[in-house]
Amino acid sequence: MKNTSPKTILLIIAIVLAIAVTFALSQITNGSSGTSTFQLVIFTFALSFASLVLLLLFVNIIILNKVNKLFATVKNFRLQSDKASVNIEYNSNDLNNLNNEILAWAEDRKNEIEQLKKLEVYRREFLGNVSHELKTPIFNIQGYVLTLLDGGLEDPSINRNYLVRAEKSVDRMITIIDDLEAISQLETGELQIELERFDINVLLKDVIDSLEMKATAKGIILSTVDENKPIFVLADRFRIRQVFVNLLVNSIKYGKEYGETKVRFYDVGNNISIEVADNGIGITKEHLPRLFERFYRVDKSRSRDQGGTGLGLAIVKHIMEAHNQTITVMSTESVGTVFTFSLKKA
Ligand code: ADP
Repeated sequence: MKNTSPKTILLIIAIVLAIAVTFALSQITNGSSGTSTFQLVIFTFALSFASLVLLLLFVNIIILNKVNKLFATVKNFRLQSDKASVNIEYNSNDLNNLNNEILAWAEDRKNEIEQLKKLEVYRREFLGNVSHELKTPIFNIQGYVLTLLDGGLEDPSINRNYLVRAEKSVDRMITIIDDLEAISQLETGELQIELERFDINVLLKDVIDSLEMKATAKGIILSTVDENKPIFVLADRFRIRQVFVNLLVNSIKYGKEYGETKVRFYDVGNNISIEVADNGIGITKEHLPRLFERFYRVDKSRSRDQGGTGLGLAIVKHIMEAHNQTITVMSTESVGTVFTFSLKKA
């Protein structure tokens, strides 16, 4: 019945009504002779059927005309919106089409409202987190400057020291703002990935060299297994550099003294799988599912002490998604952590 067209329904109604009218009339003329009653029944049925069909068709045309207009308006309205996500299959039943179109429109609006609600929560959380992150370095700078203005400037035992500390807080703010800029570009889709063919081993060596001082300060050795083997990938060199920096810096920040971080490459079909493994403090199981969320930290004070912004892994995940690739993490507390991501071979 659901897919029966209005025309078929009207035909059925006309037949039923014609039978009813004919039956009623035959009851009234019950006394007449058999042949004339039969002719009267046929005539009455034909007449009432024809007039009912005409009447219903007329009503049908008027109603369908309005339904079609309504259908066209809802359809145009829905398709004009860039949020149209539900696909509809149309058939010859105009009422069904209108019904489906209205349901699809309602579904689109529901999705849109849910999306807006999520964005609102995200916006509030993001603003809260940003102001929280910036507060500490700003208050520190304010403290140092006020002390210098209150006479500290003339005191040689603290003036230089306080300026150096203020400069460190400025550095911290720059790091936070750089990470915020990167994450907002990645999340708004503003950032275009520029793919090029390059030797990822050369890039890795360069990153390891640039982090050597930081690593040796903690006695940590950063190394790669296939040091001199060229491994060509198709990716955004600048962004992949950022991925290596974030992962390797984390392995130093959360590494044990005199520990080791090893990078290994694996050939997996069309991809190169890259593994960054450390033998640092590790992460307990319950934190792993949320590790790539922005501002998520296992140990907030340790992260801040180490100069962390809580955005490093969120940035890494976005960069991998922009490459249509994924990143995973495996970790055991006190044993170490392994991050694995893949890139297209070139
Ligand atoms: P952060 O700036 O705090 O380091 P990240 O997004 O880079 O932010 O990392 C999120 C959290 O994941 C860190 O605060 C830390 O608790 C944990 N983490 C990241 N990498 C490692 C690692 N190699 N070993 C142990 N914990 C890690």
